[in-house]
Amino acid sequence: VASRYSTDGTIHRRKTRPVAVGDVTIGGSNPVVVQSMINEDTLDIAGSVAGIRRLHEIGCEIVRVTVPSMAHAIALAEIKHKLIATYRPVPLVADVHHNGMKIALEVAKHVDKVRINPGLYVFEKPKSDRTEYTDSEFGDIGDKIRETLEPLVVSLRNQGKAMRIGVNHGSLAERMLFTYGDTPEGMVESALEFIHICESLNFHNLVISMKASRVPVMLAAYRLMAERMDALGMEYPLHLGVTEAGDGEYGRIKSTAGIATLLAEGLGDTIRVSLTEAPEKEIPVCYSILQALGLRKTMVEYVACPSCGRTLFNLEEVLHKVRDATNHLTGLDIAVMGCIVNGPGEMADADYGYVGKQAGYISLYRGREEIKRVPEANGVEELINLIKTDGRWVDP
Ligand code: SF4
Repeated sequence: VASRYSTDGTIHRRKTRPVAVGDVTIGGSNPVVVQSMINEDTLDIAGSVAGIRRLHEIGCEIVRVTVPSMAHAIALAEIKHKLIATYRPVPLVADVHHNGMKIALEVAKHVDKVRINPGLYVFEKPKSDRTEYTDSEFGDIGDKIRETLEPLVVSLRNQGKAMRIGVNHGSLAERMLFTYGDTPEGMVESALEFIHICESLNFHNLVISMKASRVPVMLAAYRLMAERMDALGMEYPLHLGVTEAGDGEYGRIKSTAGIATLLAEGLGDTIRVSLTEAPEKEIPVCYSILQALGLRKTMVEYVACPSCGRTLFNLEEVLHKVRDATNHLTGLDIAVMGCIVNGPGEMADADYGYVGKQAGYISLYRGREEIKRVPEANGVEELINLIKTDGRWVDP
């Protein structure tokens, strides 16, 4: 992993194979994909269509839907149909859980990707005597898993669709728990077992996740998975997430601590921030993480000083005003600084600068060049005029 740490200020992403999910591709040289999950009941067709559309319209590129029963799987056919008729074919993922083979086979016809949890997909009766699994017992269950998984793999392969092998720390299969313990190693072995089955059936449209609700466990599992895959010459993309991160400020920080740490190491091709809030709230967090790391630029980057005793105007208020006026633009860096204490380099080479110069006046910069000094009352208006003069303005 050490070689993935960047020394030149950019992130070197782990080499992965591209995996298509509808018209979006995860991995390869594609931008890190943002995804989320609706929380409507999948049997509520109109509600689900509206929820998917709402998420997609604000930038959720792949939408996941839960499919706990056959009726839900069939409902997805109608959801997909209605989306195409009234909006567009949003890339959809079906989340299949306990003993999901028949459900997965049905839903694979209607969605672009199926997510299975190796710990739950095949029911393994716990050993009553609680003794360790012998090699042959371990292998017998492996054979049963292969038998159960094969029809789904063949269906997805033949349709050119994808699968996420989504391991969860909290729901490891019984025999993985017995053999490897409740550890990142157990999570990795669980995923590898499913990957090997897929590969033996010549199916490679795989995305792997190793979620946990504790950030250090999640970090260890993803890192170990990447290491093992690299050693085995596997280039499957990683889907990053921290499960049960909660809500509010801490939920966002916890998700970011896990997701951004791995992204900074070059790991991760698609992300989901799981918040106990409306799913729409997750999308800006995803884009902010990607923008902060320089992986995607989807909004204006504001560079602003924290303000101090030298500040010549109400910086917080001005930053809000500047943001309100310009946050519909994309691809620009705008600095709002209380003063230029050590010269314009402090503005991190922003495209435009709004800088306190003397009481009641501010200076506008283009790059490192001071363009004009204007009364503070006209500052935001003059900044907009400058951006307009440069042909970089678009009306909101
Ligand atoms: Fe203070 Fe100037 Fe630094 Fe802002 S840029 S924190 S006003 S010294």
